Amino acid sequence: MPQYEDYVKWRRTFHQFPELSDNEYETTKRLKRILESYEIKILDLPLETGLIAEVGQGDTFVAVRSDIDALPINEEVMHEFTSTNEGIMHACGHDIHMASILAVATRLKEIEDQLKGRVRFIFQPAEELGHGAVKLAETGALDGVKAVLGYHNYPTLNIGDFAVKPGAVTSSVDRFEFKIKGKGAHAAKPEQGNDPIIVLGQLINSVQTIVSRNLSAFDNAVVTIGEVSCGNTWNVIADQAYVQGTVRSFDEQVRSFIEQRLSAIGKGLSEVFGVEIETTYFRLPGAVMNDEKLTDDAVNVAKQVGYNVNLMEQPLTIGEDFSGFSSQYPSVFVFIGSNSAYDLHHPKYDPDERILEKVPDYFVTFVQKLLNES
Ligand SMILES: [Zn+2]
Ligand SMILES: [Zn+2]
Repeated sequence: MPQYEDYVKWRRTFHQFPELSDNEYETTKRLKRILESYEIKILDLPLETGLIAEVGQGDTFVAVRSDIDALPINEEVMHEFTSTNEGIMHACGHDIHMASILAVATRLKEIEDQLKGRVRFIFQPAEELGHGAVKLAETGALDGVKAVLGYHNYPTLNIGDFAVKPGAVTSSVDRFEFKIKGKGAHAAKPEQGNDPIIVLGQLINSVQTIVSRNLSAFDNAVVTIGEVSCGNTWNVIADQAYVQGTVRSFDEQVRSFIEQRLSAIGKGLSEVFGVEIETTYFRLPGAVMNDEKLTDDAVNVAKQVGYNVNLMEQPLTIGEDFSGFSSQYPSVFVFIGSNSAYDLHHPKYDPDERILEKVPDYFVTFVQKLLNES
């Protein structure tokens, strides 16, 4: 049976050959080779990249998830397994995730006969683009699942540290856009045009009233305009303007409310000023929502396997597409210390591989607990 040294080897190989979202062809082949060498079944699903493997028997099943994609970042860490794919790096530690979930799969395969149900191992593509989880859920392979378990390594937590909370643990990461179509004219003859810059000014102010004037003090969200553009020179009234920004929220109702307000602002200003305003709202990953009972279980299991458990006071403002599972199935997503001086998505991100010692214990114990109680 593979041991810690093997997990490290797997991780280093994944690290050396990172692939971008939706292009994880070699990674998928490598995962298949390892799983098949331990006679672990791979489900027959219509997936270009990524896979779902399975051990056990019976009707009840739980799922454990790893993501598999890397980022378009030039690695600045020197070690013998530095990325050999120019400009691509496992800077989010999905190599760590893959190695640890492979470890879970091989350990559970070893005791397959004793399992009181099945365990499906999700190796999902395109987390960084925010659509991999939804794509796997769409295959139907998780319908009826008792629980989906996942984790992210966390650089600011030490090895042996574990953090979780019930409810939202990450934020939704949405994008909005306004395209204002006015009418250009000579700067000295405003009556002949319809100035989009005036509308732009009103729009910026109006958008900033959503959080400050429409939301309750007990609801949290961020609305940021990150880009505006309009006009080319000093003596011409421009004919159009463009605005884009992001909304971060932790609750589906708040999220929908902000989406509606943005659209109402676009519509209202278009009527007031007689310009055309096209408002578009792009729903990217939603907030990851942890089931309360599963969160309690996660805390107990983590303590049982020797983690130092921290209860998070608030969610993180990062996005994570595990929400594609947590919005449909009972789920719990936790953060486990990987102790890197540099954060996720940094070219110098360099997690401590000793994280691989205990992560498998957590999932192996958790899965058995869930299957035994059903
Ligand atoms: Zn990432
Ligand atoms: Zn990640």
